[in-house]
Amino acid sequence: MRKLFLSLLVVTSSIISFSQSLNRPKLIVGIVIDQMRWDYLYRYYDRYAANGGFKRMLNQGHSCENTFIPYTPTVTAPGHASIYTGSVPAIHGITGNFWWENNKGQSLYCTEDPTVKNVGAGSEEESQSPRNMLATTIGDELRLATNFRGKVFGVALKDRGGILPAGHNANAAYWYDGRSGNFISSTYYMKDLPTWVKEFNGKKLVDGYYNQGWNTLYPINTYIQSNKDDNKYESKGIGTVFPYDLKKFIGKNYVAVLTTPHGNTLTSEFAKAILTNEKLGTDSETDLLAISYSSPDYIGHGFGPNSIEQEDDFLRLDKELGDLLDFFDAKVGKDQYVVFLSADHGVSQVPEYMSENKLPASKINPDVLKTELNAKLAQQFGKQNLVVSSMNYQYSINLPLIDSAKLDKEAIIDAIVSYVSWQPGVARVFPIEKIGDIPLNSKLKEMFVNGYFPRRCGQVQVMMEPHWIESFGITGTTHGAWNPYDSHIPLLWYGWGIKPGKTNREVYMTDIAATLAAMLHIQMPSGCVGKPITEVMK
Ligand code: ZN
Ligand code: ZN
Ligand code: ZN
Repeated sequence: MRKLFLSLLVVTSSIISFSQSLNRPKLIVGIVIDQMRWDYLYRYYDRYAANGGFKRMLNQGHSCENTFIPYTPTVTAPGHASIYTGSVPAIHGITGNFWWENNKGQSLYCTEDPTVKNVGAGSEEESQSPRNMLATTIGDELRLATNFRGKVFGVALKDRGGILPAGHNANAAYWYDGRSGNFISSTYYMKDLPTWVKEFNGKKLVDGYYNQGWNTLYPINTYIQSNKDDNKYESKGIGTVFPYDLKKFIGKNYVAVLTTPHGNTLTSEFAKAILTNEKLGTDSETDLLAISYSSPDYIGHGFGPNSIEQEDDFLRLDKELGDLLDFFDAKVGKDQYVVFLSADHGVSQVPEYMSENKLPASKINPDVLKTELNAKLAQQFGKQNLVVSSMNYQYSINLPLIDSAKLDKEAIIDAIVSYVSWQPGVARVFPIEKIGDIPLNSKLKEMFVNGYFPRRCGQVQVMMEPHWIESFGITGTTHGAWNPYDSHIPLLWYGWGIKPGKTNREVYMTDIAATLAAMLHIQMPSGCVGKPITEVMK
């Protein structure tokens, strides 16, 4: 009897321990669309395919309809870093794509790293790494949680879109080299490209895409959601009207592909090749694949959000994402992987297009203003180049010069504030360290504070009127401000562990990593300030 009881106990406890074993997905797929406003999910909804990516994720997954970026500037590098760290520039230190490094007195690119070299670009030049990012990513935490058995990879056409999401301990990040048309990496990750990457590059897919050109997916007169094809606001880069003949770029120009939907296809093909060759999602350890689609940003900057070019790009991207989900279903298994899709930022309308339609908008050239400002300050304080940078809607002053010449720093900051505050389109300008004293909406204050990392930021913060953009050219548009068109982004969840539905509660970009940490039962990234979005979890 006692024996029977004991064996029953063993059987029961083994059943319990089996049913209580940790349940994790085989793969996490992070998809960042570089420049996608939330409203694009609905702007083109009727035109998206039934089996495409957007409708499938919207209708079978969970959509967080009010997801915001909680800081400025709303640009690519901080966006990718904040999604994967669950943190903000004030903590992870990625304050822009470029920033002025106050203690070095020079501008720095977000992923630049003089200690590493390019791998696969056919040149020994300085390359890049995630070292300037000061916090761990969700991928880093997955690596730690699995004692480095779970694999983590990142890919994008843009270097920063591949490197920052992959994190510090990634197996590899890959990005596209516009000179060679190859995917490359850095000695931070490896000494030489794997054979499969060399074979992938050897296929010269870009030449094939150039051969196809770019015409609209559907007859051009059905693009009723967009402005006319031929208009003076589109940048001349690859041309301005359909059909785009790309044959002239074959063998000569590997940058042009970026500004076409073929850039998305190229990214997907490489992501699929990573999964196959690195055997992601095939064993009991959870892996992470971070994919960022860079082309929507190039197309959005060049043609604007209301262009036929961008509409066509999203209709094609929708199909691309549908194919990608089919691929994961086949390779990893339906509901064995979890996907999130979001964006690093949105975009402003083209100011001239707005003005033409009697809507308030315009632009300001920060370089012109910086030159004027320096002339004015030179008269007043007797030194040239007191303003060294006008990036990310901030002015950086020449701290070493001010120090050595024993100039009055506060007086210089005051002079900048009073000059800039009278410029057209400037809503507020203030010393960022004094933000507590500025009468301003608390949400905006928090966004500016979240973007402020003293060593890597200017001392004077500028806030423009809505739809006033910083522009260096005469065509296209940009992003970077606090406003909803730049900061309201999509957030879709799909697959393993996801409860289908919609959430209208306001959530933030920084909640993504916190949610993944909760779902996986792993530690949050080291700078995480986000909270798990419990509505999306089963
Ligand atoms: Zn971007
Ligand atoms: Zn056009
Ligand atoms: Zn951009």
